[in-house]
Amino acid sequence: MHDAVGMAVMTPWVEAWQRIRVKLRGEFGDATFDSWLKPLSLLRAEADRILVAVPTRFMCDWVKTHYLGRIADHWRQETGVPIEVELVVNVQAAPSQVAVEAPRPAAPVPADDEADGDEAGDSYGAPLDPRFTFDSFVVGKSNELAHAAARRVACNPQVQFNPLFLYGGVGLGKTHLMHAIAAEIRARTPGRRVLYLSAEKFMYQFIRAIRFQDTMAFKEQFRSVDVLMIDDVQFIAHKDATQEEFFHTFNAVVDQRRQVVISGDRSPSDLEGIEDRIKSRLGWGLVADIHPTDYELRLGILHSKLDQVGCPDMPKEVVEFLARKIVSNVRELEGALNRVTAYADLVGRPVSLEMTQEVLQDLIRSNDRRVSISEIQRHVAEYFNVRLSDLLSARRARAVARPRQVAMYLAKQLTSRSLPEIGRKFGGRDHTTVMHAVRRIEELREVDSSLDQDIENLRRTLEN
Ligand code: ADP
Ligand code: MG
Repeated sequence: MHDAVGMAVMTPWVEAWQRIRVKLRGEFGDATFDSWLKPLSLLRAEADRILVAVPTRFMCDWVKTHYLGRIADHWRQETGVPIEVELVVNVQAAPSQVAVEAPRPAAPVPADDEADGDEAGDSYGAPLDPRFTFDSFVVGKSNELAHAAARRVACNPQVQFNPLFLYGGVGLGKTHLMHAIAAEIRARTPGRRVLYLSAEKFMYQFIRAIRFQDTMAFKEQFRSVDVLMIDDVQFIAHKDATQEEFFHTFNAVVDQRRQVVISGDRSPSDLEGIEDRIKSRLGWGLVADIHPTDYELRLGILHSKLDQVGCPDMPKEVVEFLARKIVSNVRELEGALNRVTAYADLVGRPVSLEMTQEVLQDLIRSNDRRVSISEIQRHVAEYFNVRLSDLLSARRARAVARPRQVAMYLAKQLTSRSLPEIGRKFGGRDHTTVMHAVRRIEELREVDSSLDQDIENLRRTLEN
C-alpha cells in the first residue's frame, strides 16, 4: 500500500511545523498564507524557543505583528511545549539542519486534522472556504464556460452531464468554483448530501480505511452521497491502488445517476499517470477548461477584491499596473494586492505606484513573460490568416507584407531582441528593413484605428 504515499522520514519538530503550516493555510486562506507564511522556514527548535527564518525585514515586521501569536499557539497545541517564536531575517535554512521546505502534499497529514470543522458533518469531506462563492467569482471570457457549467450543476438538481470536469492551470479558480457549487447546493437544498474533498484527501482517507480495516465504512460514505466533488484529480497519478478505488467509487456514484464534479490541472486525455479507463470516463460528461486570465478579467478581479476589503480608493494607475504585470494567476494577483495594501497600512502611507513597484519587485520579475519571436510570428500569421512560411518568405504582396511588418513591430516591442536579431528571424532580412517596418507601423497606428486595434489584440494575447 505504501506505494501510494511517499513516506518521508522526519523529526517530530519538522512534522509539527508542517502540520502548523497546514493549519495556518486553513486559518488564513491561500492568498495570505502564500504571501506571508509560506516563505517562513523553521531553522531550529530549542527547549523554549524556535527560530524561524523570514526572507525580508519588511516581512519580518508584518509577520511579527500579525502571525507570531498564532504560530506560538499552534506550536503549543501540536507539541504541548510553550515556546517563544523568534524571527531571523534573511537566513537561509540550511537543508542539512532540517528539511522543512516541504511542498504541501508531501507529508501524510493525519486525516482528522483537516476534517475538523466540517459544517455538514461529513467525516470524509473537507471544509468549504466561505469566501469561495458564485457572488465573489468574477466572470470573464477565460472562465465563462466553466462558470456557466458550474452554475448549471449547482442550480439544477437534474443531472445533465456527468461528470462535470473542470480543468486549468494553477490559481485560476477551479477550487473556488468547486466550493461555490457545494455551498450553493447546500444552501438551496440542505437535504442533498454534497461531499467535497481533494484527491489527496481521498487518498489519505482510503489509506487510513485500509490501515484501520474500515473500508466498508469508507465505501459506504462515498457511495451514499448526492453530489461527489473531487478536486485536483491529478494528485492520484501513479498511485495505482488509489486509482482503482477512485474508479469504482466514481462508477458507483455515476451509475446511481448522482452528480460528480472533478477538477484537474489538464484535460482528461492529457492527464499523465492516470489509467486510460479513468481518463476516458472523466471525459464522458462536460469538460470545461479555464484559460489564463486576460487583462480585463484581472482588472475586474482587482476591483471586486478592493470592494470586498472596503478600500476601493486605490489609485487607478496602481490597479492597472497590477493587472498588467501580475499575469501568472489569480492567486498571485490577490497575493500582490494583499502585500501592497498591507505594506501601505504598515508604513502609514497611501498606496502609490512607486511603493507598489518596490514591494512587488520579486513578483514582477517572475511575471515578466518572455515572449519569443516565433510565438509572435505564429500568432500574427494566424491572426491575419496568412501562412507562417509566407511571413518568413521574400514575398512582397501587401497581404503578406503588412502582417510581416506587424510581426516585426511586435517583436521589437515585446522582446529584448536587437534589430539585426529580429531581421535574422524573419528569413535573414537586414536590420534596416526591420527598422523601417517598426516606423511604418508606428505611423499607421496613429491613423488606422482598425490596425491599431489588431495590434492591441495581438499584444494582449501574446502577453497573457
Ligand atoms: P485553483 O484551484 O484553480 O488552483 P483557486 O480556486 O484556489 O485556484 O483560486 C486561487 C485564488 O484566486 C482564490 O483565492 C480564488 O478566490 C481566486 N480566484 C480565482 N479565479 C477567480 C475569479 N474569477 N474571481 C474571483 N476570484 C478568483
Ligand atoms: Mg485548487
